[in-house]
Amino acid sequence: MMIEMSVKNDLKIISQEKEYPDPRTLPAQPSWQQPLPHLTLSDLIPGKYVSLTARVVFLKTTQRQDALGTKTIFSGVLEDTSFKTPFVSHRITYPLLRNSVYKFSSAYVHGFEDKSLLLIITEKTKIEPKNIEDYREFVWAPKIESINRPVRYVNLQGVITTVHSNSGLVKRCNNCKSILYDSCPNCKEGQGWNWDLRVSCRLYDGSGSIKMILTKDLASRVLQRNLSELILLANGSAYSGAKSQSQFQFQTSACKMKVPNIEVIEAVCENASPSSFRKNGKLIVTNGINLVFFPTNEGHTFNFKDFNRRELHTSDPEDKKIIKRLIEKALEISIKKVTGNRMMHGIFLLEDPIPLYRCEKAKLFLGFSARANLNENELQIDFTPQAYIRESVLNYVNLRRERGASSSAISKNLMTYRNRVVVAPSGNYGSISEIIMRKAGNQKVSETDTRNLVEFWKQIYDIDISRMKFLF
Ligand SMILES: [Zn+2]
Repeated sequence: MMIEMSVKNDLKIISQEKEYPDPRTLPAQPSWQQPLPHLTLSDLIPGKYVSLTARVVFLKTTQRQDALGTKTIFSGVLEDTSFKTPFVSHRITYPLLRNSVYKFSSAYVHGFEDKSLLLIITEKTKIEPKNIEDYREFVWAPKIESINRPVRYVNLQGVITTVHSNSGLVKRCNNCKSILYDSCPNCKEGQGWNWDLRVSCRLYDGSGSIKMILTKDLASRVLQRNLSELILLANGSAYSGAKSQSQFQFQTSACKMKVPNIEVIEAVCENASPSSFRKNGKLIVTNGINLVFFPTNEGHTFNFKDFNRRELHTSDPEDKKIIKRLIEKALEISIKKVTGNRMMHGIFLLEDPIPLYRCEKAKLFLGFSARANLNENELQIDFTPQAYIRESVLNYVNLRRERGASSSAISKNLMTYRNRVVVAPSGNYGSISEIIMRKAGNQKVSETDTRNLVEFWKQIYDIDISRMKFLF
C-alpha cells in the first residue's frame, strides 16, 4: 500500500503572489548592539527580526510598484535542514546566487493570516556568504510532523490510511468553486456547476499524518480513469434512473418470458458433478449426480453409453431445476459471445478487472449480473449493473505472508474481519467458517468427485494452487 507521489500544490493552495508588507510599516530595525536570536527556518518567530543561515533554493527578480514608481526586488525561497520559507530582498545591491548559502543578520519575519511566513531582507540586513562544502547540509527532507505552517512545493512519501467519503465525483460551483450538493451555499442560484474529481484522504509517513486532497489530475492518475470516463460510468449506471440524488442505486432491468416444455437428451454420466461441464462452452448441464442434459440440436463430443430423448416439464420440481440451469448456461454462453469477457464473482464483466491504487491487489469489477427466476412456466431474468471492488483471498493471504504474518494470525483475520466472501464461480455470498491447513493435493473435492483440489482448480478455473497450503 505504499504510495509515492508528489503533493506539490496539493497540501494547500497558497496564492502565488502574496502581498508583501510595505517596508515602511515594519517595526524599527534593532540596533547592532542588541543581540538577535540565530534561528532555523522552522523556528522563525513572526513579527521579529532574526538572524539565520540558509540556502537560496530559488530566486527571481520582480518589479513592484510603490509611491516612487517601479521598484525592483528579489524574491525566492530559502531552505535549511528544518523547513523552507519564501523571502523578498530589498537589498538589490547584494546579488544572491542560487544554491549558495548565506548568513542573514537582522531580517524581518512577516506572518500572514494563514500562518505562513515571509522573510524580508531589508536594506539594512547584513548578508554574508558562507562557504559550505556540501550544500546538502541545507536541504530539507520533509516529514509531516515538521510541517507546522503552510508551505509550497513539498514532496512527501507515505501511506494513505483513510479515504474520506466525500471523495470521487463532486459538483463544484462555477462561480465560487466550492463543493455543492443541491445548491451552492455561497452563491445565488443560477451560477451552475460542473463535475470535478477529487480524493480526500489522510497521508501518514511514520512521523505524523496530514489531510491530503488529490485534485483532478492526481486523482485521475491514482484511479487510472479520467474525469470523463468516470462521469460516463456514473451516468451509464448509477446516475440514470435515480429519482433523487440520495437514491443512487443501480437499476435492474427485467425480462419475462413463458417457458414451454423442452425436449432434451438425457444421458448417464459416471462423473456428473456440475463443475466437470462448466468450462466446455457447450450447452450441457448436469443434475449434480449422474445425469447430463443437453438440447437435441446440441452437437457434443462426449461418449455417453446410455441416453434417451425426453421432455422436461416446468411442472416437475426436478425438471424445473434442470430447465433453470439450461437457461442460465445458455444465457452465459450467449452473453460471453457478445461481450468477449469472462464471468467473475458472479458478474459478466464488461471489461477486464481494473487495478486500483497501483499498490493494492484489489481490483474494480465492472459488469452486470443476470439472475433467472422460474415460477411455474414463467421465467424472469433480472439484469443488474454491478461495480465493485474485490480482493482475492489468495492475494490477501500472499500479501500478509510476504509481510511475515503467521498462519494463526492470517487464520484469525480470515475468520473474523475478512470472513465475508464471494464464492467462485457462482458469485454467491459466503462466510469463512473453518480453515483447513492441509496440502491441497491430498484433499478430495467431494465424495462424488475424486479429483484432488489441485487438479480441480487447474481444470476448472485454470489456476495453479499446487504451492498453496490453505483451503477455505
Ligand atoms: Zn458558489
